[in-house]
Amino acid sequence: MQYDVTVIGSGPGGYVAAIRCAQLGLKTALIEKYSTFGGTCLNVGCIPSKALLDSSEHFYNATHTFKTHGINLKDLSVDLPQMIKRKNEVVEQTTGGITFLMKKNKITTYQGVGSFVDKNTIKVSKAEGAEETISTKNVIISTGSKPTALPFLPIDKSRIITSTEALNLPEVPKHLIVIGGGVIGLELGSVYARLGAKVTVVEFMDGIIATMDKTMSKELQKSLTKLGFDFLLSHKVTGASVKGKKVTVTADSPKGEKITIEGDYCIVAVGRTAYTEGLGLDKIGIQLEERGKKIPVNDHLETPVKGIYAIGDVVRGAMLAHKAEEEGVYVAETIAGQKPHMNYNLIPGVVYTWPEVASVGYTEEQLKEQGKKYKSGSFPFKASGRARASMDIDGLVKVLADAETDELLGVHMIGPRAADMIAEAVVAMEFRASAEDIGRICHAHPTFTEAFKEAALAATENRALHI
Ligand code: FAD
Ligand code: NAD
Repeated sequence: MQYDVTVIGSGPGGYVAAIRCAQLGLKTALIEKYSTFGGTCLNVGCIPSKALLDSSEHFYNATHTFKTHGINLKDLSVDLPQMIKRKNEVVEQTTGGITFLMKKNKITTYQGVGSFVDKNTIKVSKAEGAEETISTKNVIISTGSKPTALPFLPIDKSRIITSTEALNLPEVPKHLIVIGGGVIGLELGSVYARLGAKVTVVEFMDGIIATMDKTMSKELQKSLTKLGFDFLLSHKVTGASVKGKKVTVTADSPKGEKITIEGDYCIVAVGRTAYTEGLGLDKIGIQLEERGKKIPVNDHLETPVKGIYAIGDVVRGAMLAHKAEEEGVYVAETIAGQKPHMNYNLIPGVVYTWPEVASVGYTEEQLKEQGKKYKSGSFPFKASGRARASMDIDGLVKVLADAETDELLGVHMIGPRAADMIAEAVVAMEFRASAEDIGRICHAHPTFTEAFKEAALAATENRALHI
């Protein structure tokens, strides 16, 4: 078979790239080694984690806040197998949706491992040793990432686990140890903390969600501490061992003391590594970058080999599903001869804890580092009528604007529905709005979005109306 484009890997980067290629009239093939489409995101990432986050939040509210709302329930209990079954059904429906989209867009799909024979020939190795070879003018590599392992800490997938196993635990842990205070650790830690587990996070840095604005990190730590999290910050994990049902993690404290933590499960969530195994990149002379072992690409996401592109987690930048999707569209349009554009500074980042954290643009720390003159305004959710009505008063919105032009430079939110609210800030910043623009736009009352308007007013001339 001869294709215009062959996409290797069907995660949010790959399947979206394939759809856009097909929309643009390119004859497109998609190769996926796994039995369902959707990659990490749909199978073992974004979608299943959010399904469990929602279920566990319902349980938490039923046990902790319903009474205050005037709703009395008796004999509440967690049926974890049912919670996981519902999560699996959500995954099945979602991955099934991609199969439908591939057919609808007349994309030819192959199940097997895709590897390069040469730059225009891809071999698909199938389960029972069968092989098929296809010819292609262009290739989009979107093979994603896998959990990073610590060399001194073997993952047994039973007690010392990655996010993948954490989505399918047989029981609610009594004491869950999480190595890494990043997005995965805090989201999956939240799931089990809400279901009753004690959660201890051991983090190497001096704060959690270390790449986000420091105010967000501090506020989230406060909220998660209320939920029952313990944080061991600036701690260097040195090892872990399993004996029966017990996991023992060892770490060095900031004072150099050797400490041990005992629990029944330990999630290792210290980042993800680009996945390129089995691709045969050596056959086309592509060498991985020294740092991060990622596939090197230029500004147009083309590798050093003409006609071979790479997108998503396997290339530089944030490891986010929506970043992978945008890159998929970008490359498809580039191959079709268009001149697309991507603004990497305006890719929002979200942490789906409760309260949620969402950010776009520069953090205050980055602006200081750049020596940029900026103004800052913030508004706490406890001053929002909507937040009080729903008992979601933790958190705030922080707006950073250029001191001279008033242009929005960064928006950081921690609070109810921040994940959805950040979209307004992304749109505003794409159109290069000023803080005053947001302050002068009518926001429906009562909504959580009013907090963004108020924070923008606070940044404009300290003109917030409700604080
Ligand atoms: P992937 O989704 O990793 O897909 C790569 C695909 O390529 C896989 O299906 C793999 O089987 C296939 N493949 C690999 N090699 C070959 C080969 N040689 N031949 C054929 N197929 C191959 N991001 C968010 O934006 N929001 C979230 O809420 C979020 N939550 C997450 C929660 C968890 C627990 C995890 C682990 C990740 C989460 N992420 C989230 C990150 C997100 O999943 C990734 O950024 C995203 O999936 C990357 O997309 P991708 O297309 O680059 O690769
Ligand atoms: P991460 O990079 O977000 O966090 C890893 C944390 O582990 C960091 O804080 C780091 O300092 C810490 N760490 C590293 N080595 C350590 C050690 N030896 N001891 C203690 N701490 C150590 O990585 P993650 O949480 O594994 O997530 C991986 C990727 O998946 C991220 O890039 C993220 O973008 C993506 N993801 C996104 C979402 C979302 O968008 N909501 C959700 C889950 C995952």
